Amino acid sequence: MNSIKRNILLNPGPATTTDSVKWAQVVPDICPREVEFGQLMNSVSTDLTQFVADPTDYVTVLFSGSGTSAVESILCSCVSQDDSLLIINNGAYGERMVKIANTYKLNVVEFKSVPYHAIDLNLLEQTIQTCTRKITHLAVVHHETTTGLLNNVKLIGEICVKHEIDLIVDAMSSYAAIPIQMNEMNISYLAASSNKNLQGMAGISFVIAKVSKLEQLENADIRSYYLNLYEQYKYFSKNKQMRFTPPVQTMYALKQAIIELQEEGITERYIRYTRSWERLISGTYRLGLSYLVPEAHHSKIITAIIEPDISQYNFPNMHQYFYKHNIMIYPGKLDEFNTFRIANIGAITYKDIDTFLDLLEHYLTSISVEI
Ligand SMILES: *Cc1c(COP(=O)(O)O)cnc(C)c1O
Repeated sequence: MNSIKRNILLNPGPATTTDSVKWAQVVPDICPREVEFGQLMNSVSTDLTQFVADPTDYVTVLFSGSGTSAVESILCSCVSQDDSLLIINNGAYGERMVKIANTYKLNVVEFKSVPYHAIDLNLLEQTIQTCTRKITHLAVVHHETTTGLLNNVKLIGEICVKHEIDLIVDAMSSYAAIPIQMNEMNISYLAASSNKNLQGMAGISFVIAKVSKLEQLENADIRSYYLNLYEQYKYFSKNKQMRFTPPVQTMYALKQAIIELQEEGITERYIRYTRSWERLISGTYRLGLSYLVPEAHHSKIITAIIEPDISQYNFPNMHQYFYKHNIMIYPGKLDEFNTFRIANIGAITYKDIDTFLDLLEHYLTSISVEI
């Protein structure tokens, strides 16, 4: 196996992949409607379910597309015109769900919360109780990639059970690193994708759903032809094919990425990520920088770092410096604070974080003396 030039991606996905995942895409051409390819997709689906739920009661529905398509598929397929959807908005991805729901003219109740503190769950429950409409669905981002804030889905799930609400979770940047048990957490629908903690290639998104919930969607309004969750589910169960062309080679890479996750284990992967995060935090402190979300609610997967107070500092310039060293960093996404973001996911270790920190120190020193 030839090695391929290695870049260190510190953006929150697509993440750095192993050479074995990269090479898994180089396969003989195949028509994706052949039985052999159907078996591959079927095994990928079952594996993806197994990471978070029991495949007898839950099922994975695959889509071609980036992660947002899975989120959009849930919102446009599972919430009817008579339902009311409460969306927790404490970052850019919660905001995105509000925009999607508004596009489909759903009955939306937006629950806003600051992006760097835990949600006030009493206030959330009060909002549900005092709302003039009965809330039927609640959507939340598990890990807000905007800041690194980890929302407590287990406690939100308990509130949902109590008030008979279907819980929808965008687990895009937590799935495959932070352990999730859909049944214990009372999650009805979960969205994730192939290119973040799964360490696969970009292009496949998926919904993991409780089968009993999906079956109830048979006569639901059809708002999207392509992203119709029920149709995609039924068609695949019957034919072991996607309704439309899947990203064939990306599927082979995903299978390889799944095998590598099974070998490593989700808990161990999270330990590896956490080790990188601890390195990152102690390094940034050493350089006099601080970060936004307190450790107790931090995902340890992505960190919004406050930009240094140096007049010569500018993000595009720093980005170019790192890019030349084969490291990719990410801008911030908050209005109130100037931040840049460092993710520590993918096929990297704390040693890569050390490399990043050495370069960061070098860069900050160089712009400090330039005045
Ligand atoms: C990455 C991400 C998405 C999906 O983004 P795409 O660009 O569509 O893949 C959705 N939600 C969260 C929380 C994410 O981190």
